[in-house]
Amino acid sequence: MRNEYYEFLVDANLNEETFAMIKPDGIENIVKIIEMIYSAGLKIEKYEVRHLDKDILKEHYAHVIDKPFYPELESFMLSDNVVTMIISGDDAVSKLRQLMGPTDSKEAGKDTIRGKFGTDKTRNAIHGSDSRKSAEIEIERFFKQKQKRITR
Ligand code: ATP
Ligand code: MG
Repeated sequence: MRNEYYEFLVDANLNEETFAMIKPDGIENIVKIIEMIYSAGLKIEKYEVRHLDKDILKEHYAHVIDKPFYPELESFMLSDNVVTMIISGDDAVSKLRQLMGPTDSKEAGKDTIRGKFGTDKTRNAIHGSDSRKSAEIEIERFFKQKQKRITR
């Protein structure tokens, strides 16, 4: 029921949902990554192993599609399976981003997922939504629209 208490919960980011994707280079360490997610007080609501196609990648990475590194990013992301996830918990969007570390794995702290399992800016083990709005769009893209898409 949408009352004042509900509005308070939403404003406080309590029990928020975010979207994560374990990239091809993170898969072999997925158990350790899941342990880190749970140790941060977050929970996995849904997950799926998939092989992405070029179209969904173009949509997901629309903000970097014109960058010189895009072809390398695309071939890396198509090189193996990924695991898509819906993650929940208080402040889930920013907690997951903190746990991931910065884009460049070389600059990431040793207690972060990218610091432990990533290699550089392309091979950085995990994606996480950067805002609540992106989380909503990405959950829709990867879980709710999925039936309409062709995957291989
Ligand atoms: P993600 O969106 O994957 O969680 P991010 O939010 O840290 O990562 P973005 O700026 O959204 O980074 O870039 C999307 C992805 O593009 C990065 O995860 C990375 O794989 C790649 N990327 C970004 N900047 C560079 C770069 N300078 N060189 C190579 N790859 C890059
Ligand atoms: Mg991003």
